[in-house]
Amino acid sequence: MTLPPTTRRDFLKTIAAAGIATAVAGQGTQPEAVAAPAGAAEKRPLGRTGFTVSTIGFGAMITRDPDVIRAAVDRGVDYVDTADCYMGGENERIVGRALAGVRDKVVLATKVHIDPGDKMIRSAENSLRSLKVDVIDLLQLHGISTEGEVTDPRAREALQKLIDRGKVRVAGVTTHSGQETVLRAVRKHGFYKTVLVAYNFRSDTGVTAAVKGALGLSEGLSNTIRSVGEAGVGIIAMKTQAGGYPSPPGGVSPHQAALAWVLGNPGVATTVPSMTTYAQVEDNLGARGRRLSFSDRVALRRYAMEIGDRHCGLCGACDGACPNGVDVPSVLRSLTYRDGYRLEELARASYAALPAERNASACGDCPSCAVSCPLRLPVARLAREAHAVLSG
Ligand code: SF4
Ligand code: SF4
Repeated sequence: MTLPPTTRRDFLKTIAAAGIATAVAGQGTQPEAVAAPAGAAEKRPLGRTGFTVSTIGFGAMITRDPDVIRAAVDRGVDYVDTADCYMGGENERIVGRALAGVRDKVVLATKVHIDPGDKMIRSAENSLRSLKVDVIDLLQLHGISTEGEVTDPRAREALQKLIDRGKVRVAGVTTHSGQETVLRAVRKHGFYKTVLVAYNFRSDTGVTAAVKGALGLSEGLSNTIRSVGEAGVGIIAMKTQAGGYPSPPGGVSPHQAALAWVLGNPGVATTVPSMTTYAQVEDNLGARGRRLSFSDRVALRRYAMEIGDRHCGLCGACDGACPNGVDVPSVLRSLTYRDGYRLEELARASYAALPAERNASACGDCPSCAVSCPLRLPVARLAREAHAVLSG
């Protein structure tokens, strides 16, 4: 990692120097970026955090083998993402073991939930112990969805104390629902320097998104990411491969194509694909510097057909649409953990973390589902399935 520029002008100059085009995205399409040579360790500034990072980071959420993380770091991965709650805390200890002796080579990111200030500080101190480090580079508020959470004074005060004490370098947020709201709020209010956002080739698709964009009702996730990123907020993309479902046999790797699609947006600084094997590390690193090609688009179309009627793109178009208050994106994300990642325990934990009034227990009472999905997912059926297989 290297120190980045600190002003907007410098930030934009650095993007230009990195060869990143500033073409405006059309609604439902991806902004184009000029990539580094394929395989090269392309770097981008992480907003105004003070870090410059490679475009392929490491999402450690489901990684149990520290040697896999270490192998990625040895191959130039310099951004590692974990959380205090992954694997009930064990994931931070795994990351700590992986980074022994190479800590200074990476930007280390973990998370904390909004709680009373003393509890947040204790949580960060636990993370420091688990990770076996003196300082956390990026501590993110976990899973927020509203502007009110972005401005929550308890959270800001606790995080500022941690920064003042030298325990944390930079504060950020993560979001799975209400993503555009959170992105805009972070740009507006300024305290948080990064947003970890769910973003993949299934975002911003469909007729509804196109119509909303044409009517000026929604900027769309791609354009919001681009404009917020270029305003100096560091954007980290997660869920980049749309659930990690197995690749259809033959042809181009859809996982590389999916990363190339995400990195085609110049607002994205880095990505945190989940990796559990050396083969996945190699596959994902093949996307460094790759520009989305015709073959990649074909691979993504084939992959989308495989997962088409099950995978939620987390586009946010249905936020607040259920009259019974079901948090549809979060319910379907839990189902993806089960079907895509094949991680039953994580799926159950994710579903159990939803408040009872936001889970899918209310589904089944509606004569017809009021949620309209641009990907045409059978939302009611999937939500009922999620409740049946993940609750209890
Ligand atoms: S269910 Fe459909 S509309 Fe809702 S977030 Fe997922 S892809 Fe978007
Ligand atoms: S069927 Fe649709 S509208 Fe009814 S509770 Fe379920 S998600 Fe909401």
